[in-house]
Amino acid sequence: MRVLIIEDDPDIAGNLGDFLESRGHLADFAHDGVTGFYRAVADDFDAIILDLGLPGLDGMCLCKKLRGEARRDVPVLILTARDILEDKLAAFECGADDYLVKPFALREVEARLKSLVARRCGRVVDSKLVFDRVVFDPANLAVTVEGRAVHLSRKCLRLLETLCRAPNRVHTRAELEHVVWGGEQLVSDTLRSHMHMLRRALTDSRGLSPIETVHGIGYRFAPPHAPQA
Ligand code: CA
Repeated sequence: MRVLIIEDDPDIAGNLGDFLESRGHLADFAHDGVTGFYRAVADDFDAIILDLGLPGLDGMCLCKKLRGEARRDVPVLILTARDILEDKLAAFECGADDYLVKPFALREVEARLKSLVARRCGRVVDSKLVFDRVVFDPANLAVTVEGRAVHLSRKCLRLLETLCRAPNRVHTRAELEHVVWGGEQLVSDTLRSHMHMLRRALTDSRGLSPIETVHGIGYRFAPPHAPQA
């Protein structure tokens, strides 16, 4: 993950940065709100750790500007010393995704960031669901892989929709058969052959497909390179 840490306390910023880098992530820093805002807009971070009490522009205003004016949907984890319900509610109102009160455990920061980033891999952009190189638009049932339109049968679309509404969750064969075919009597190979078609259709130029078989159980939608939840 590439993480921007917007925090004016050099000890806290340093600890967070050292920890995240020791875990294989990349950390960037801003020590005041105005710099933080510009860095967040100018660069493409996977997540932002945001302190509330900042010189220049406070964390809540920064978050609001990021979502409003700059229209950025990068996940924001708020860190603050204020353990007050009103503050937490206000942070969510401003568009924050999660909230941790100081003092916090560094491992919890990382766990929360990972979870935010994983959720974003199924993020909604203009009502489309974006998963790595596969984009599904539920409004008009259009699918693209690396920008190329993919034509799927109604049953395959229904399967894809079911799977990608809950990425990384294992769907049993019985569940998928029920959702797509209702009470219809199926020959034993029907689901398997549809999943085969779907997997092939969604395979990208790297040879990777988000459709994964979970042997003996069913299938799951696991976009390549998406951090696992
Ligand atoms: Ca502060």
